Amino acid sequence: MLSYRHGFHAGNFADVLKHSLLTLVIAAFKQKTKPFVYIDTHAGAGKYSLKSEFAEKTGEYRQGIVPVWRASDPPAELRDYLAAVRAENTGKQLLRYPGSPQLVRRLVRPQDRLLLSELHSSDADALQQLFAGDKQVVVAREDGLSMLAKKLPPIQRRGLVLIDPSYEMRDEYKKVVAAVVSAHRHFATGVYALWYPVIERAATEDFVAKLAGTGIPKQLRIEHCVADDGAGRGMTGSGMLFINPPWMLASQAQTLLPWLDRVLADGGGRWKVDWIVPEIGAGSALRN
Ligand code: SAM
Repeated sequence: MLSYRHGFHAGNFADVLKHSLLTLVIAAFKQKTKPFVYIDTHAGAGKYSLKSEFAEKTGEYRQGIVPVWRASDPPAELRDYLAAVRAENTGKQLLRYPGSPQLVRRLVRPQDRLLLSELHSSDADALQQLFAGDKQVVVAREDGLSMLAKKLPPIQRRGLVLIDPSYEMRDEYKKVVAAVVSAHRHFATGVYALWYPVIERAATEDFVAKLAGTGIPKQLRIEHCVADDGAGRGMTGSGMLFINPPWMLASQAQTLLPWLDRVLADGGGRWKVDWIVPEIGAGSALRN
């Protein structure tokens, strides 16, 4: 039984981090004309109304996309992200927010493809409707994690895989690690982007250590916490773990994160950009 609905959380501070980094990876893929595939194992509904009962119930987007949308000095690293959010909102008001599928769909070229998996019936229906008739997009109501390895390697031989579970079940961390190991065996040159929450620091560090322990090289962690760690405080931060990230991503994140921290946490949060499994010559930046 799936109870998580991303509509409650769309546009929150974690979405801002995840989606802005995603646009930087897509931009790097587009530097070559060769086609690529984007695989989203946990796609959600595709896009969201910020005026829905869901979004208004938590109001999380008010501490996420709203201050970023209003900021007068966004860095160049947010150009594609903000353009995609603007494309959802034709007027001046911020009414809608693109989920990862719609965000990526707005940025890809005619030669690129999207493979989207979603298990929840309502969100899978919404996703099917959003991309009905779109020849570049395949939507499947399926377990995106267990189907992932079957899609690899992609015929394009270039691809980005987003793994973005809600981690409602504690064994999801374990399942993600196993799915990544299997996927990497089939497609070692793919770029993988794994989202994770910071709710209990020990669980987060255990997940990161398990990924580092897989022996898969080139693993970059980019994390932003808007508040101090602490049990019982809910989600105080989130991060993205990239395997084979584009070479510019670490330095782009080092520009982006201080800005995001200023706008989302009044400069009082914590961020880090570090190679958990380094590539030769890669630096590390940590800040508390
Ligand atoms: N990636 C989306 C975005 O950034 O807009 C948000 C995804 S949300 C965090 C997680 C989604 O995964 C939920 O919609 C949930 O129904 C779905 N889900 C949970 N388990 C799944 C599975 N095994 N396979 C596919 N989808 C799953």
